[in-house]
Amino acid sequence: MSDRISEYIAGLFAPEDDLLRALREDADRSGLPPIAVPPETARLLQVLLRAVGARRVLEVGTLAGYSAIWMARALPADARLVSLEIDPAHAEFARRYIARAGLAQRVEVRVGAALQLLPALDGELFDAVFLDADKAPLPTYFEWALRLLRPGGLVIADNTLRGGRVVDEDADDAELRGVREFNRRLATDPRVAGIVVPIGDGVGVGVVLDAAQG
Ligand code: SAH
Ligand code: MG
Repeated sequence: MSDRISEYIAGLFAPEDDLLRALREDADRSGLPPIAVPPETARLLQVLLRAVGARRVLEVGTLAGYSAIWMARALPADARLVSLEIDPAHAEFARRYIARAGLAQRVEVRVGAALQLLPALDGELFDAVFLDADKAPLPTYFEWALRLLRPGGLVIADNTLRGGRVVDEDADDAELRGVREFNRRLATDPRVAGIVVPIGDGVGVGVVLDAAQG
């Protein structure tokens, strides 16, 4: 999507408030990587969460808490967002802004490698899982998401187009292989109805089908 169209969509649907702007500026100054979702992707997350009436959400990859704050704002007050983050400094930064946003009751950041933390969630059921951490294990994260999602729940993943490199036949690395395999499963796994939405860096969305529909 062209920058002008992205700016048009973000300007109309996803204006940032002072807190989100301060978060981004502080994150940049603090040397955190500038890889939070763009506002239009964050807005899509909000719309999707509201569409499924989400009350329990899992995020993999917190960074500065930017996407977590957007998502938590689309949830009812008694809802819960658990976000997994491997870097303690990122988690600390995120917790600070989540508290400033008045969302500390709704959002819990857990520190550790996602594949180490996910087993502790086994047996819980989520309405949506947002995958936005490392890309090589995306196929494994996909399987975890299907395990943790209720029927009708959403598996969502960011960076499913990798700046267009998914379609570059000469490009090949562990991250690209992870993304391509994730997209393939999202497209073909009979347990989900999926699509990649070419907003931001590509947002994969799949709804978990009832066993009967599969
Ligand atoms: N969702 C955030 C951006 C996440 S960037 C937003 O849009 O605001 C990716 C984050 O995933 C980084 O903070 C990185 O430290 C974290 N990460 C990378 N590998 C991880 C892993 N194996 N487990 C948990 N977090 C991981
Ligand atoms: Mg991302």
